Amino acid sequence: VNNLETYIIPFSGLKAGAHQFTFRIDKSFFEHFEYSQVADGQVDVTVDLEKEERMLVFYFTISGTVILPCDRCNDPMELEISGKEQLVVKLGDHFEEESEVVVIIPEAENKVDLGPYIYEYIHLMLPIRRVHPGDTEEESRCNPDVLKKLKELSEQHNPDPRWEALNKLRDKS
Ligand SMILES: [Zn+2]
Repeated sequence: VNNLETYIIPFSGLKAGAHQFTFRIDKSFFEHFEYSQVADGQVDVTVDLEKEERMLVFYFTISGTVILPCDRCNDPMELEISGKEQLVVKLGDHFEEESEVVVIIPEAENKVDLGPYIYEYIHLMLPIRRVHPGDTEEESRCNPDVLKKLKELSEQHNPDPRWEALNKLRDKS
């Protein structure tokens, strides 16, 4: 079911007017994309399509949970995502990206592949900072072993200021 062909909408057979498609995205979807930052997840996508004579307007409603590595400890973490996006597909005689939301595709194509758009929208919804909740070390939900290791490493690179002071004293004498 999660074969990427699922996301290809053959529009030539659709009547003008409103249509709706729903997708449930999981791990197999993200595996199709080599550079996906998301490894796994459960995301519901509802696509409302307004089909006109020479134009298709897609409204995406996306919500769910994705799993990706934490920036701090690299353990998998869950993130809630949700949002809405819009895509306007105009029928023409060549491929062209008019803007971020408007694309032209040749009428003879007869179909639109929504997969790459959904993939992009989900990635746009990810926050820039992706770490387990908790600001202090005590509250952090990061992997404690990794936190300990990171702390040791940072202490090696940033020596204890008291030692620095001692070294300065030693240099003077
Ligand atoms: Zn973490």
